[in-house]
Amino acid sequence: MDSPSRYMRHILLRPIGEQGQRAISGGTAVVLGLGGLGSAVANLLCRAGVGTLRMVDRDIVETHNLQRQTLYDEQDVARRRPKALAAAERLARVNAGVNLEPLVQEVNESTVRRMIEGATVVVDGMDNFQARSVINRACVEMGIPWVHAACVGTYGTVHTVLPGETACYECLLPDAKNKNASFTADTVGILGPLANLIGCYEAVEAIKVLTGRREDVLTKVLWLDAWTNQIMFYDAARNPSCPVCGEA
Ligand SMILES: [Zn+2]
Repeated sequence: MDSPSRYMRHILLRPIGEQGQRAISGGTAVVLGLGGLGSAVANLLCRAGVGTLRMVDRDIVETHNLQRQTLYDEQDVARRRPKALAAAERLARVNAGVNLEPLVQEVNESTVRRMIEGATVVVDGMDNFQARSVINRACVEMGIPWVHAACVGTYGTVHTVLPGETACYECLLPDAKNKNASFTADTVGILGPLANLIGCYEAVEAIKVLTGRREDVLTKVLWLDAWTNQIMFYDAARNPSCPVCGEA
């Protein structure tokens, strides 16, 4: 672990402490998708001193990303940098003690298992139902906790899946892989700070998993609208006949 003073503000926190910080430093976090959500998560987990940070995105940085995706700048756009490489370049300057593993690849059924192998926690920065469905199945089968989130317009959701313990993504959203969102950031826009707000919440959940505080994770679904100031928590019940996590 780096010098203790670097992480003192986390070590001082009762739910983390020295033991929790050691666990963070020994853990592996995999961030799938490095847009608005993924930028916020990767940045904060790097600063928190996670042992290994694997970051996956197939896209390059574009001008319209800069409104909310805080890891990138105009030079990345001009150089047509892949997001994963630009993120690793920036985060290497933030915390040299973190083992950064950028991957310029698409998340799909044939790649996802290799991407999440060895992960302590997987965090979702994707922007579509199909990708989350693929991640959910792989994480449940491999027994890896994952934090999923979505945001569009001025609202977003967060929920943490502990395989075998809590509701999985398929329990909440049956047949997600065949759904198509009519509202996306491309069609109705997205509030820049909202993507960061939701991403920060995901980072909190990831830190709970990394520190082993599984009893504290968000097993309800958090829904919030940052513009209208509404925050709700929905119960998320496991479906016993869920085709992904059910007993059958
Ligand atoms: Zn399920």
